[in-house]
Amino acid sequence: MANLQVRCSVNNCHYWSQNNYCTANNILVTSDSTSNNKTAGYDAPSVPNDLTTPVQMSMETCCKTFVPNNSASRDMDNVKRQ
Ligand code: SF4
Repeated sequence: MANLQVRCSVNNCHYWSQNNYCTANNILVTSDSTSNNKTAGYDAPSVPNDLTTPVQMSMETCCKTFVPNNSASRDMDNVKRQ
């Protein structure tokens, strides 16, 4: 699997780092509708391998791994900082 580097400008995220690097060890990009219908614990480590969520435009996608800085729920999804 490719060693992917994610650039992100959402600087109030727990996983955000200087120069706009994401430090999460795993992220889930999915459709906005999927994200809106799932709990905070539903994230990359628990997503089914056969999940498919097609969209038509980039505006319909989001990072489900986002969690605000200092949020009490930051460990609910089993994603870690690298
Ligand atoms: S987890 Fe998502 S929102 Fe947070 S820094 Fe990484 S890419 Fe950005």
